[in-house]
Amino acid sequence: PADIFPGRKNSKGWDWTDPHDMAAIDRARDVCRGEQADSEPLMAVASAGAENRKVQAPAAPHDWVGTVRLATAQDAAAATQAAQPWTASAADRAAVLIKAADIYEANMGRIFALLAREAGKTMPDCIGELREAVDFLRYYAGEALKLTGAARGRFVCISPWNFPLAIFTGQIAASLAAGNAVLAKPAEQTPLIAHLATSLLHEAGVPLDALQLLPGGGEVGAALTSQPLVDGVCFTGSTGTAMRIHESLAHSGNAVAPLIAETGGLNAMIVDSTALPEQVTRDVVASAFQSAGQRCSALRCLYVQDDVADGLIEMIKGAMDALTVGDPWSVSTDVGPIIDEAAREKIASYIEAARAEGRVLHEGQAPSAEGTFITPTLLRVDTIAQMKEEIFGPVLHVATFKADELDGVIDQINATGYGLTFGLHTRIDDRVQAVVDRIEAGNVYVNRNQIGAVVGSQPFGGEGLSGTGPKAGGPLYLTKFTQSNGAAPVA
Ligand code: GLU
Repeated sequence: PADIFPGRKNSKGWDWTDPHDMAAIDRARDVCRGEQADSEPLMAVASAGAENRKVQAPAAPHDWVGTVRLATAQDAAAATQAAQPWTASAADRAAVLIKAADIYEANMGRIFALLAREAGKTMPDCIGELREAVDFLRYYAGEALKLTGAARGRFVCISPWNFPLAIFTGQIAASLAAGNAVLAKPAEQTPLIAHLATSLLHEAGVPLDALQLLPGGGEVGAALTSQPLVDGVCFTGSTGTAMRIHESLAHSGNAVAPLIAETGGLNAMIVDSTALPEQVTRDVVASAFQSAGQRCSALRCLYVQDDVADGLIEMIKGAMDALTVGDPWSVSTDVGPIIDEAAREKIASYIEAARAEGRVLHEGQAPSAEGTFITPTLLRVDTIAQMKEEIFGPVLHVATFKADELDGVIDQINATGYGLTFGLHTRIDDRVQAVVDRIEAGNVYVNRNQIGAVVGSQPFGGEGLSGTGPKAGGPLYLTKFTQSNGAAPVA
């Protein structure tokens, strides 16, 4: 079919260093700051949910952002039965998704205000998140036109709080682009932004029975993935939950339904003695501390060649001192809050255990506001093997290696079993290819930071314990949402 969207480009977003864009953002989100946001099940049949819960802002413990009415296990069964795959032509579905992208952009103020309040997103993170969401919508719209397989049927989409708009939207857009009905279960911490996004998708023309929203916790997710009518699950979150979804699918009577999972990481970066220290410092700080380290792509373990380690670590400490930790609404904030108190406590006790072992090398500025904050922290480790689990916060580990130990370091990184992102800083050309050939990671970045994969040009996803593939935002993604065995084409 003809490309209805020739020359698709990613959104240019908003340039917060440009006074004109900045003033527009400020005006738009200030108007929406005090808005009470609510969330409730959006279903094609009546919901049995009656329990209301207040949603608290992580950065302002006394700010109740809104109320969520939770879906129930009974709702999961009813919504799954009511779900109807989207039978409009691929071209019509694509047109609706493209319209949705425009509507999202037109609602920038409401979206930024809610991202900052409900998810604690800083200004650059809000901009990045909305850009990624609309890029997913437009990219999958274009990809829908190339599909040859048929819709699978009903997809459950379970999304995380760390990208409550972008990943929520990306999973849904991919499922819908392929013609599936979606049962969306957003993260328990961020139901309000999910409700806003779902309403905007409906406003663009997605039918209610093709997209239903079931806010709730793990029990709603589990009820959805155990429905026999479910034909596939798209999940981003922890490796442990992905394994439980596999089990649930296996017992649902529809064991062949696919799981598309993006999970955790223990991401490393290797810096050799030829790398440019200023560039490394900038890229390390962005990779480890942007979004308060709450990205599955974030750098967790930095390996520095020993002859340059002392100087580089001093520079990283200096850059950490310059990071402002506090209110995400303020444009001068670099590091916003941790999503909730339980998550904050877990990170804090991990740091305290490292402190007791004398492994804290540095801590940045203390938070300037009340809320669930963690000061950016640098910890010493001997090797990545010492890190038993992903610590989802602004905590960077650093290890050193000798010039002749590079191969062993790659073995150590591969031995974690995770394989999401990896960074390399070197100016030795041959080394780039040699390391890239051996490292087992989905997204490999050379001489740059290792977060912020861009839709359409850097498909994102890991291997091993980090995910099933295919990569989100890439040309193979939609094929997994279709079946190609002889059924009629989607269009
Ligand atoms: N795609 C994001 C990035 O490249 C990470 C997604 C996640 O944290 O789940 O930084």
